[in-house]
Amino acid sequence: MTLLRSWIDSANSATTDFPLNNLPYGSFSTDESHVRCGVAIGDRILDVSSMEEDGFLDLSEEFVFAVGDWSDFMALGPAVWATFRARLTAMLVEGAADQTEIARYLVPMDAAQMHLPFAISEYTDFYAGRHHATNVGTMFRGAENALPPNWLHMPIGYNGRASSVVVSGTEVRRPWGQLKAPTEETPRFAPCARFDLELEMGAIVGVGSDGPVSVAEADAMIFGYVLLNDWSARDIQAWEYQPLGPFQSKATATTISPWIVPKAALEPFRCETPAREVPLLPHLQDAGPMLYDIALEVGLAPEGAAETVIARTNYREMYYSSAQQLAHHSTSGCPMNVGDLLGSGTISGPTKDSRGSLLELSWGGKEPITLETGETRSFLEDGDTLTLRGAALGDGYRVGFGACTGTVLPALADPFAREGAL
Ligand code: CA
Repeated sequence: MTLLRSWIDSANSATTDFPLNNLPYGSFSTDESHVRCGVAIGDRILDVSSMEEDGFLDLSEEFVFAVGDWSDFMALGPAVWATFRARLTAMLVEGAADQTEIARYLVPMDAAQMHLPFAISEYTDFYAGRHHATNVGTMFRGAENALPPNWLHMPIGYNGRASSVVVSGTEVRRPWGQLKAPTEETPRFAPCARFDLELEMGAIVGVGSDGPVSVAEADAMIFGYVLLNDWSARDIQAWEYQPLGPFQSKATATTISPWIVPKAALEPFRCETPAREVPLLPHLQDAGPMLYDIALEVGLAPEGAAETVIARTNYREMYYSSAQQLAHHSTSGCPMNVGDLLGSGTISGPTKDSRGSLLELSWGGKEPITLETGETRSFLEDGDTLTLRGAALGDGYRVGFGACTGTVLPALADPFAREGAL
């Protein structure tokens, strides 16, 4: 597919994340108090909340963009998603009618502050990248037992916390927790010393279910995708994770990029999951190409210093697609809701420089990486800013996600100190 040209010049650049081919959905404000729904186009945001208020859009009897997030719109279902996208394309394509009228609703992106684009119903995180699972398993259990016996048969997941999902740009405070090194006799309560990132994609459920769904049905239920950084406290994780999996080590924060890239924008970039080592049970088998070719990278900038790209990888490295994860999630009859967020699991590639976490990049701290500033890192330091970027690369255009950033704040001196504390 080639670039669809828009009458908004900045959308025709080969370097913008937001050409007409993309049209991602976000929530923005230009003054804190009034959060509106917007669609990114080049370096502008089309204010669809105001358009709806003025009677330009009639998607439903009720205003769907009044609350300033995309949850009510998602609930209208795939037929309305498709109609709306077609209408947006017609409004913004080169030669469109009523350009002056529409231009009144364009806001400069650099004047906008971004907010969470949907009400996160629940958050589930998976462990579905083979290179990541093999690397982590090798470090924790040895190369012989790297992949748990169930790993090639199902996408392993755990129920995370929706309450700590934050939008790109939110600062993340280093947590306190229980730590116990293998050499220590008893645990202690202290600030995390091995704070880490996980480079992931997030899939957003846009259609609910009330019973098991097939992989093909699951794919149709997905509204769109975001970049996701699943902040991880490795030392807390190592002590707490058996037998029920990660708990507080993953609960501090999960950062998502501000723009939901609609599944429709990613259609030209669909690709197959990697070859199966053992056949999957029929209910989890691929129903067609359900991964996407999306180039991904992670930048790390120490406080006040230039950024180093510490990893480059691709979403197509995943062993399981989000549709397979969603189908697996529903097998017990677990209802899935509009606004459920599914983390893909860390996306590491086969090479050293394509690993999606510092745990892997520094091999558990044994092989610190060197930044362009000359500093080294095994895990995150206070003041470090991480930036995840991703884009599906077309012929002369890119369908990008915008940046997914966060800066590490130092741990509090006393995590329990607050007004009124007992
Ligand atoms: Ca994760």
